[in-house]
Amino acid sequence: MTAPVHEIPERSGTAFVLKAGDMLTVIDPRGEQVADLLAFNARDLDEVISSGRTLDYAEMIYLTAGHQLYSNRSNVMLEIVADTVGRHDFLLTPCSVDTFRHFYPHLPVHRGCFGNLAAALEPYGVTPDRIPVAFNCFMNVPIDGETGKLRVLPPISKAGDHIQFRAAMDLVIGLTACSAPDSNGGSFKPIHYRIDSAAA
Ligand SMILES: [Zn+2]
Repeated sequence: MTAPVHEIPERSGTAFVLKAGDMLTVIDPRGEQVADLLAFNARDLDEVISSGRTLDYAEMIYLTAGHQLYSNRSNVMLEIVADTVGRHDFLLTPCSVDTFRHFYPHLPVHRGCFGNLAAALEPYGVTPDRIPVAFNCFMNVPIDGETGKLRVLPPISKAGDHIQFRAAMDLVIGLTACSAPDSNGGSFKPIHYRIDSAAA
């Protein structure tokens, strides 16, 4: 039996438990939509996904199938097992009220992925100051290798593209449909996800 597909409405977020061995598939149902992903050790929230550890060990900023996402304690939290896009970002922090004030002073302020993650993770005991750099599924941040200049371009993901992770420990996951205009090609779409339980 196929696991149900859940929808995260545009500019919102959710949180859930992912058990060790479970598979999480994050789907871009319409294309050009980013999803910020956070992971905390479900048994100890002080252990959290770490961009710095992961990029260090991968020796690479563009992560895809075969790469592992590490915690601040250098334990593997998630492994990327499938990826139909091949372009994601693990450099930039979740968009927030401050992001809107900085980059979009002409637009109404939105709480962004940061606010959506903080609200969704609050019932699990995660306070806002614990939120680190997220793994930004489908976010397209090319870097000029000479100057280090980065740009935020529309995702290259097409409708139905997806990235799949296997949990290496019991995790609390936070996941959004990103709210920042430039990251999402100027429009806001939902994100879909599916959990295939190892126990099923
Ligand atoms: Zn965002």
